[in-house]
Amino acid sequence: MIRADKNYNGVIDELVNGSWISPSDNQQYGIPIKNIEIRETLDGIESNLIKDLHSNQKLLVVSDPFTHKAMGSRIFKNLKGNLNVDEYIWEHPSSSIKGVEFLRSKLKDYDGMIAVGSGTVSDSIKYATFLEGKVYSVFATTPMNAYTTGTASISFDGVKKSLVAHYAQGVFFDLEVLSNCPKRLTAAAFADVICRTTAQVDWLMSHKLLNTDYKTTPYELLALYEMDMINNASDIAAGKIDSLALLTLISAIMGLGTSFTQTTHVGSMGEHGISHYIDMFAGDKHPGTSHGEQVGIATISVSKFQNAILKKDQPPIISPTIIPEKEIVQKLGEPMLETIKKAMEPKYFDQKKAETTNEYFSKHWLEFVEPLREKMLDYDIIWNSMGACGALRTAEDAKLDSNFYKDALRYGRFIRDRYTILDLAGDSNQLDNLINV
Ligand SMILES: [Zn+2]
Repeated sequence: MIRADKNYNGVIDELVNGSWISPSDNQQYGIPIKNIEIRETLDGIESNLIKDLHSNQKLLVVSDPFTHKAMGSRIFKNLKGNLNVDEYIWEHPSSSIKGVEFLRSKLKDYDGMIAVGSGTVSDSIKYATFLEGKVYSVFATTPMNAYTTGTASISFDGVKKSLVAHYAQGVFFDLEVLSNCPKRLTAAAFADVICRTTAQVDWLMSHKLLNTDYKTTPYELLALYEMDMINNASDIAAGKIDSLALLTLISAIMGLGTSFTQTTHVGSMGEHGISHYIDMFAGDKHPGTSHGEQVGIATISVSKFQNAILKKDQPPIISPTIIPEKEIVQKLGEPMLETIKKAMEPKYFDQKKAETTNEYFSKHWLEFVEPLREKMLDYDIIWNSMGACGALRTAEDAKLDSNFYKDALRYGRFIRDRYTILDLAGDSNQLDNLINV
């Protein structure tokens, strides 16, 4: 059955027009992106979508050889004649600062760009147009949360940095195109949003123990679709449109999460720290896995730790934090030690903090864990749905050296200032046991 104009936007329509009301604070919320469309197909409506946002502008449509074939040539064909557009096929796209500089030179004659593509094309255009004070919209070729964020992931001499950039004017998802993207990318996108559960538990725990910020708005939006998405994991892998729409919707909301909270904590806690550790220190051992794939594997580990510790009816006993300086220097190099000491400052438990926490736990443990358990997905649900979606689940699946992965679980907590279950497990002397189970 062809439903050319079936709209899968869900709650996004309310966010786009600023009319969504959060049930927790009764406030109205909007988003910084002017339009987002998730449709079965966008074939034939491209020029209307772009005209609404880019009237009277001279635009360059940029794709790479793959995305040009997948959608770029069609988009240019449908825009040409209706809008003032040229086309550029970026033969060797790169989301490095060199790639960004190249795009900036291309932007000279244009008011903005229309990106057709996945992370590389989209993020480098996001950053290049930001630096030039120009605008862009994007047609997505994969389901991914990067399209709806205001940050860009750009590498400098091989080191990836997440940089403040700006939001797209419009983000457009054509589900028929997405259903043809490599399965590995769909599975990675699934893994990068199912981490909602581990991130929320970590973030709420940090709020309760260290009094850091916490905001539920993005989670209220994600909760509308998360269980449906999980139940449709195998249909997502099979490329079924209705199921892909759920993954796309959740990915878009996850990306927008930062716009409500002003921090990335909402979807980036212990599991993301482990993935960053892999990217920072794997070197020659890096198996070439993507961000989403690594986050998925780490989510499974972190979920196991959270379930093991927070479902116990007895509280852990916290000891003052130990930074294993010798091991860190040996494994990560001398210069990392200073960075790590600084990162650990806000979450360092000294004798006094350990004692007061233990006292609090001994009186209020069940009260402490109850709201955390409410936010937790069962480990089996995560494991099984990721399997159904075709996602990598273990270091072995990823062909990642298992000793190196154990190091990522052990030392990942030291590289960021975010308090997570890895810190609680480490400070209560349970981490090594959990890693070696
Ligand atoms: Zn992520």
